[in-house]
Amino acid sequence: MPDARRPFRSYVWALPATVIGLLAAIIAGACGGRWSVRQGVIEVVAGRRRARLARRCPFVAVTLGHVVVARDDDALSACRLHEYAHVRQYERWGVLFFPLYLGSSTYQWLRGGRPYYDNHFERQARAAAESPLTPSRDRAGLSRGRV
Ligand SMILES: [Zn+2]
Repeated sequence: MPDARRPFRSYVWALPATVIGLLAAIIAGACGGRWSVRQGVIEVVAGRRRARLARRCPFVAVTLGHVVVARDDDALSACRLHEYAHVRQYERWGVLFFPLYLGSSTYQWLRGGRPYYDNHFERQARAAAESPLTPSRDRAGLSRGRV
């Protein structure tokens, strides 16, 4: 269910990425994963069988539009603010987020940086998740409008 604190247009703008996220969520669900909706974002935790496979993956969670897929509950709790920062990035950039993200990684790689860690969008998400100056709901970008 959409969250009233997120403008409807943000769901439309991010929809192409959300559709891809839903496909990943369906696969995770078929493998025993669990879905829930929090603050207008679909959160999927991989099932036990999937979690074993996912532990081999270097990522503990991934965001595609308004869908966050996490390896397990602990990973989701630990990464939620970071992943919600990515949700806001999708809301801002829409389908352009994919080429911009790839472009930032490529740029970092070409200049000798780390494609993932030094990526502009990853740095922005880490900063949003780690900022001690804003309440957690602000870091999740949900303080506008109703609480
Ligand atoms: Zn990230």
